[in-house]
Amino acid sequence: MQKIVILRLGHRPERDKRITTHVGLTARALGAEGMLLASNDKGIKNAIEDVADRWGGDFYVENDVNWKSEIEKWKDEGGKVCHLSMYGINLPDAAGEIKLCDKLMIVVGAEKVPTEIYNLADWNVAIGNQPHSEVAAVALTMDRIAQEEPLKREFGNAELTIVPMERGKRVINNVKEE
Ligand code: SAM
Repeated sequence: MQKIVILRLGHRPERDKRITTHVGLTARALGAEGMLLASNDKGIKNAIEDVADRWGGDFYVENDVNWKSEIEKWKDEGGKVCHLSMYGINLPDAAGEIKLCDKLMIVVGAEKVPTEIYNLADWNVAIGNQPHSEVAAVALTMDRIAQEEPLKREFGNAELTIVPMERGKRVINNVKEE
């Protein structure tokens, strides 16, 4: 099973709250085990872990990490690093190789990322060579490199579980119905 962690760089608490929260939630939904936030914003950790508490799984957020030492530690432990940048190799040309990797850190920026990242990364990958959104970049990458269908994951210990249906909404409250 792939172990995937997101490293979020350059988050500005005054303007990136919503998008960083969505990066984390999207990564969680598609199978990442956690997100490392290289900025100090405990609100992001609380918001995402609150969702994870209700909807299951063990997704975590580490607040205020040092990005460089996290990358170095990850690589020392045998992990690979994929930096998402519109200047990189286009995803369709890199996905086959990345898919073989069982321990992957996906680095996603907000404001301009430090140039050093381009050299530290094993892959600098563009999700098409046009600017767009970090949420879309994470989602498309995780979908294209997944070893198993990422949308069919089951999340253990969920308080709430959705029953998929063609029309209407059904949510099981596992706590109440126990
Ligand atoms: N102006 C910034 C720069 O020059 O690096 C780009 C900011 S962009 C809004 C924020 C992040 O979204 C980037 O650091 C990258 O991780 C991701 N991103 C946006 N478009 C992308 C693309 N086409 N391919 C890969 N990543 C992309």
